[in-house]
Amino acid sequence: MPMPAENMRSSQWNSLEPYAQLVRSLMPRAASVAVFDANAKLRWSNDSATWPELVTAVERSAQDATGDSANPGQLRVLEGDVPLYLCWLRDDDARELIAVVAIQCRANSDSDQRSFSFVHALIRPALECLRRELVSRHSIDFLSENLSARDRDLELVLAVSSRDGVRPGDDASALRVILENTVAHLGCALAALLVPEKSLVLFRMPDDKPADGRLLAQTHRHLLSLAQVRRDPLIMNRLAQNSAFGALPYKILSCSLRSAAARPIGIFALFRHESAADFTDRDARLVDVLSRKASMIIEASYDSMTGLLNRQAFEQRVGDLLARKEGAKSLAVLYVDVDQLHLVNENFGMHVGDLMLSMLADMMRRRLPPGAVLSRISGDRFAVAMPGSLEAALELATSWCEVAAQLAAVQGDERSRASLSIGVAELARDGGELTHALAAAETACKAAKDRGRNRAEAYLAADESVVRRFTDITIAASLRAAVADDRLRLDAQFILPLDAAHGHPPHFELLLRMIDDDGNTVGPDRFLSAANRYQLMPTIDRWVIDHALAQLQPHAGMIATSRAVFAINFSGQSLNDAEFADELIARIEASGLPPQSLCFELTESATIANLARAEVLMRRLRKLGCGVALDDFGTGLSSLAYLRQLPVSMLKIDGSFVRDILRDARSESLVQAVAQLARSMQMVTVAEYVETDPIRERIAALGVDYGQGFSIGRPVPLAEVLANLPAALDRVPRLTHEPAGDPAVSLH
Ligand code: C2E
Ligand code: CA
Ligand code: CA
Repeated sequence: MPMPAENMRSSQWNSLEPYAQLVRSLMPRAASVAVFDANAKLRWSNDSATWPELVTAVERSAQDATGDSANPGQLRVLEGDVPLYLCWLRDDDARELIAVVAIQCRANSDSDQRSFSFVHALIRPALECLRRELVSRHSIDFLSENLSARDRDLELVLAVSSRDGVRPGDDASALRVILENTVAHLGCALAALLVPEKSLVLFRMPDDKPADGRLLAQTHRHLLSLAQVRRDPLIMNRLAQNSAFGALPYKILSCSLRSAAARPIGIFALFRHESAADFTDRDARLVDVLSRKASMIIEASYDSMTGLLNRQAFEQRVGDLLARKEGAKSLAVLYVDVDQLHLVNENFGMHVGDLMLSMLADMMRRRLPPGAVLSRISGDRFAVAMPGSLEAALELATSWCEVAAQLAAVQGDERSRASLSIGVAELARDGGELTHALAAAETACKAAKDRGRNRAEAYLAADESVVRRFTDITIAASLRAAVADDRLRLDAQFILPLDAAHGHPPHFELLLRMIDDDGNTVGPDRFLSAANRYQLMPTIDRWVIDHALAQLQPHAGMIATSRAVFAINFSGQSLNDAEFADELIARIEASGLPPQSLCFELTESATIANLARAEVLMRRLRKLGCGVALDDFGTGLSSLAYLRQLPVSMLKIDGSFVRDILRDARSESLVQAVAQLARSMQMVTVAEYVETDPIRERIAALGVDYGQGFSIGRPVPLAEVLANLPAALDRVPRLTHEPAGDPAVSLH
């Protein structure tokens, strides 16, 4: 074991008295015995007075000792003919000098001087005992030194790993804990974490001794570029010689920070004063472990593609901003949505979409006001919190829209322009809630989209269309609760066959109602837009289908004999639900209801939006024997060509044309054309919104098969309809004789 003298601790030299006695018993003329370390520093002596002459002699001898490792020592004669025997003790390998034993004898009157080899042979056993003692004491010291260093390392790792005082998700604090503990445990003048692509600069110095402020500025560039090429920690204990840093009086230990994919993203750098101990390999290993830990924390709080904070970290930072006493009076949040990113993905490929997101993220990062926090909260959404007023935020948002519009992803000859819709809202410092402010900003962002995209809108409580968006969030929540508590009801509206001569069976359309917390009935016009926005339609559709079939089932026999048909609406969102079609068919089959007593309504626009899936489902329903109606027909603004390929049994002409039919010739001719076209294709037609008798007469005259509207019957609870079904239908045949008479079937 090498035994560098500076590592020897004083404990190693304690109480060497027994060895001195041993020497003196072997050599009675010895006046004093002193033990020096390899650097000629006096460590022990049995004589309280030590002459400077003695020290000089030992210093010289120590130099001689290093020259010839086989040499056991030398004799020197001090002034006054005093013989001084210097014995060199070496380590177990007989290489390194560990101590010099100086034995000074009484002056020789008879000049009978004993040779060194004679004396050495005489006292050799005593010297060997001393040597062994020193070596074993040294190893014990070395071990305990090692052990306490390990203890310190462990303490550091534990301090950094325990999340005392660090809230979950509070990654900034977790990084701060690493820095603080590193500075304290490794005795650094400065410890710093730098990740340029994430604009992350964190550093820490000991409170009592601030380091040179320019230290980081002078070194970071070079350290970062070294981290690019070097995986292992880098120790620079002789910095003065490193010209790249311009003779700094510091020692550096720098370790690269890496992404999950092992890409170098930054550095963890420690600085010690020139006068402090060197950085050791052990320090490097420790810092390597800490760097990995820091990298993990950084990765967990930042989005890997854009390098921006993720949502959780964002919420945490904003919480800190709100909690801070000093600073701006008001805060604003921005909700940024990249317009039509899916089109870029579809037309150019995902990589171009990703590139566009990164460009936009970069653009926003570079234009961020001081103190602001920017994050990517989901795929194409970003959120910003900034100190300042709503107006300032709106101004910033508008400027971002302008700059974004200049950016474009280029693929071959094609360019795809970037565009942002941004909503801005206020975040009150006292008691303001981020989720609330973000929801308001999101609402304003939707308004920006509605108003043509590539623009910014502020959330103002007075702006009705914006407020409606906002209330959607509340409505969606109460709708979810209503589904969970079964506070929904199905009403039925009668659909009257206008010309009984055709023998069309009577229909009832099932329409959904929500019962709110106060027991009031709420119509779908109030909750369906929210349900659509928050993807609640598939849930709603399932509820409707389940409950409709369950309510009809007990009346299956009567329904079969009466030929009554019940029309059930379902939404476009369910078409995209992979299991919906199979489930629907299975439920119809399991219900035991005659399939021809069921008709399913899908709007024209939902059908066109997903033509392929709509067609497949319609075919399956028709095959089963169910009817299929195309709802709100005429509003889809599409060509009629696709109608031929769709297995639709019923067209429901949108109420907006029907309502105007007596006043607007174009509506009238449209209704007529649709009625004729449908008939040629073996479809029946329904006119919605038959609000008056004259309208009913007119549509009947135009060849429409059915009428539905307030003048024929308002929607009433399905339970009531079913309870009165025989009576209600009894009145239908009367129409056979008086088709244009008074609306006999009124279910009120
Ligand atoms: P829709 O399918 O076109 O249903 C007809 C709507 O027109 C019903 O409104 C009905 O009350 C209303 N209506 C009937 N006659 C008249 C009239 O003479 N004048 C006027 N102005 N309106 C009339 P409701 O019940 O509010 O439903 C609105 C829409 O909500 C429905 O339009 C349908 O798209 C959707 N919806 C209703 N129930 C369901 C459902 O169970 N599932 C799904 N997916 N959507 C539903
Ligand atoms: Ca309908
Ligand atoms: Ca309709």
